Amino acid sequence: MSWDFETDPDFQRELDWVNEFVATQVEPLEFVLGDPYDKSDRVAEATVQPLREQVKQRGLWACHLGPELGGAGFGQLKLALLNECLGRALWAPSVFGCQAPDSGNAEILARFGSPEQKARFLRPLLDGEITSCYSMTEVHAGADPTLFVTSAKRSVDGWVIDGEKWFSTNARYAAFFIVMAVSNPEVSPYAGMSMFIVPAETPGVSIVRNSGVGTEPEDEGSHGYVRFDHVRVPDECLLGDEGAAFAIAQTRLGGGRIHHAMRTVGLVRSAFDMMCERAVSRHIRGGRLGDLQMTQERVADSWIQMEQFRLLVLRTAWLIDKYNDYRKVRKDIAAVKVAMPVVLHDVVQRAMHLHGALGISNEMPFSTMMVSAEIMALADGPTEVHKVTVARQILREYEPIDGAWPSAHLPTRREAALAALSRTLDHAAAEH
Ligand SMILES: Cc1cc2nc3c(=O)[nH]c(=O)nc-3n(C[C@H](O)[C@H](O)[C@H](O)COP(=O)(O)OP(=O)(O)OC[C@H]3O[C@@H](n4cnc5c(N)ncnc54)[C@H](O)[C@@H]3O)c2cc1C
Repeated sequence: MSWDFETDPDFQRELDWVNEFVATQVEPLEFVLGDPYDKSDRVAEATVQPLREQVKQRGLWACHLGPELGGAGFGQLKLALLNECLGRALWAPSVFGCQAPDSGNAEILARFGSPEQKARFLRPLLDGEITSCYSMTEVHAGADPTLFVTSAKRSVDGWVIDGEKWFSTNARYAAFFIVMAVSNPEVSPYAGMSMFIVPAETPGVSIVRNSGVGTEPEDEGSHGYVRFDHVRVPDECLLGDEGAAFAIAQTRLGGGRIHHAMRTVGLVRSAFDMMCERAVSRHIRGGRLGDLQMTQERVADSWIQMEQFRLLVLRTAWLIDKYNDYRKVRKDIAAVKVAMPVVLHDVVQRAMHLHGALGISNEMPFSTMMVSAEIMALADGPTEVHKVTVARQILREYEPIDGAWPSAHLPTRREAALAALSRTLDHAAAEH
């Protein structure tokens, strides 16, 4: 019997160190440095490198990866607890070498890449020297990848890629793109799309604009509208097998979704802490805001939602460790993905509201967090699609009944119980 909610003391010591390190050394960085993915920012790199060294010395670098790739490889459950601490600070994932989308890209390079691809692209990515980009969504098609039209045609010396991708995060900073393209239009899209590694400097790759989210200034965002115009790449740039793009995408997105959720637990917690601090600090009508029952309801509802979500994330992480196969945990990951934007939105909205005008001002982080909640409902697939996955997987576990009456139909059950027990009941009645 094992059903244990304790963190082992050795690892708790590591988490205590991480919490202290993030709060004192990493959180301040977002107020003085630019984008964590901009490796050309020499001041930022020089400032952050000593922190990365401390993380490496502590054995906490790139913990999502196994030891053969330089990570601690201590599994998803411990990673979940670690990522909770990292979700509170913008720079923390980059300081700990597990930032999305690089972490997911590293995962598929590690799993499907050739030795040459690993040496050229994976190694510097793991060392935090470069940034990568995952280029799948197109302007006219996102949630339904079977509609993608970006093509990869065979040429004498490799492949020629043509098409446009949209919302390719960090395209502007990326050293390479992982591009999903139709390599065989004659077969089903599930067998006719392939993944290609395209170095950013390849002729024909251009960024039409850098879209932002929320109120970010136009063309200064991180999500590239990218054009691939007759981009020639050699055979060695094919990632995995030809036609294997869907399988590779599932591997990547499965990990990506749960890692986002782990960090979101930390983000929700920070909004919750702000709410509670406000509740005990702000005075109103002769008492504290937290003495009003409607405030208490907000605090209680938020805590319950947060704890439910956290337990779902931890249990899903535990299941991934148990099966070591994302396909066996699809329902659970999809459920986490559905729950994530709701809990983030609800807790942030309540915290924001309790801060009054200050809450919606640009002097508090709530507006950005609200946009993050909507991002979580879209990035890596919209909520609706994941709800369908959850429901389909659940319904597979049920058998249809014969006839019109449900198996819980009371008269039918009574009749069956009487038939099964009639002799016993008759016997008991005769004796008493
Ligand atoms: C911040 C951010 C970062 C991103 N980063 C990347 C990246 O790095 N690389 C990349 O390739 N993509 C990225 N994306 C794109 C993301 O994967 C897509 O936004 C997502 O797949 C949805 O596609 P779409 O935006 O085209 O919406 P659509 O496909 O147009 O869907 C719009 C809406 O239609 C509804 N809908 C769609 N399908 C269904 C369905 N089957 N059932 C019911 N309703 C449905 C939903 O309400 C959905 O929100 C990012 C997105 C965001 C917001």
